[in-house]
Formats: sequence, structure tokens, C-alpha cells
Amino acid sequence: MKKEKAVVVFSGGQDSSTCLFWSLRRFQEVIAVTFDYNQRHKTEIECAKKITSELGIKHHILDMDLLNQLAPNALTRNDIDVKDGVDGELPSTFVPGRNLLFLSFAGILASQVGAKHIVTGVCETDFSGYPDCRDIFIKSLNVTLNLSMDEGFVIHTPLMWLNKAETWKLADDLGSFDFVREKTLTCYNGIIADGCGECPACKLRKRGLEDYLSTRK
Ligand code: ZN
Repeated sequence: MKKEKAVVVFSGGQDSSTCLFWSLRRFQEVIAVTFDYNQRHKTEIECAKKITSELGIKHHILDMDLLNQLAPNALTRNDIDVKDGVDGELPSTFVPGRNLLFLSFAGILASQVGAKHIVTGVCETDFSGYPDCRDIFIKSLNVTLNLSMDEGFVIHTPLMWLNKAETWKLADDLGSFDFVREKTLTCYNGIIADGCGECPACKLRKRGLEDYLSTRK
């Protein structure tokens, strides 16, 4: 696959940064795409820009403000709290249709730049109930994208069956553990690296990190 091009859906967080390093090992050319949907923390976009420029990767930032207009939620509005879902409800951070739209636009970009591969950090293991992080959804969308554009895209999901500790291990195996730990942003409160330590995203990241570090040789 060395000679081929890949578009990586990239938010500047732990998962998509690990996918970026995974892709750099695998493909000749890697293009990152970040979606600007007026997320609460502009830091997210800044962080994504910084990482791609440091790694010398071509970076597209696409305006997806429409998503914010249609689906206000805790990631886009300061007056909505970040909460885990209770009694089978989805968490307040769920944005309906987000991965459907992001991956469709990533597909359009891939077709424009002649990339066959699309890489996303979605994961079913820790998926907090997000329906659009499930493997079956990605496989279904892969078929739909190919039919819609008459392309032979392959959507890669290197993290699909990993837990957070295993994602840290993957970053480490790729030689990017320190980079991912120090330069990525996962925190819902917009604090880079180890984050605020209090929000659900920080707790998940921290638990995974501790689990991984306890086994690291
Ligand atoms: Zn946090």
C-alpha cells in the first residue's frame, strides 16, 4: 500500500493523532482533514493545525457550521453540560449524523485528491453508545460512498476494537507515544495533553494511560 494516498479524519485528539501516525507508516502520502463545526474550543482546530504543520502534512480545514445550526450539543454550546448518558440515553456530547457527514466529506475530498484510503479513529470498544462509531455503520457507509461516487475507497478504522490502553500501546509501537501524550487535545475543557482530568474524555484517556503504563516494559 506504500504508493497510495490516504485522507485521515483528524481532530487533533489522541485517537485521530494515533491514526495519523499509523497512516504515515502505511501510505506514501497522507492528507489530514479537520472539520470546523464551531466546536466550543477553537483550541481543537489550533491544536490540529500545529500537529500537521509539525509533521509536514497537508491539512484541509472544512467549514461544517451547518452541523452546529442543526444539532446544538455539549460540544458546540457552552450552556449545555457535558454529561454521560443515563438509562440508555446518548451522552450530551452526541452530535447526530456527525460521522456520516464527516466521512462523506472526507470521501469527496479523497475523490478530489485521488486518494483511495480514508482513515478514521472511531472505536466501538469505548464508544459511549454513539451509533455512528460502530463497525457496521462504517462498513455500510463504505459501500454507500463507493456506490455514490463509483470509487473503490477503503475506510480504515485502526482503533475499532482497541480499548484506550491498547490505543496508547499502538501509539507507543509507532514511536509516537510522547508526541501523542504531550501534543494532542482530548479534553472537553480545551486543555492540551493530560487535560483537566475531570471531564469524561479526560477520565477515559487517563484510565487508559494508567492501565497501559502499568504494563509497559
Ligand atoms: Zn478534561
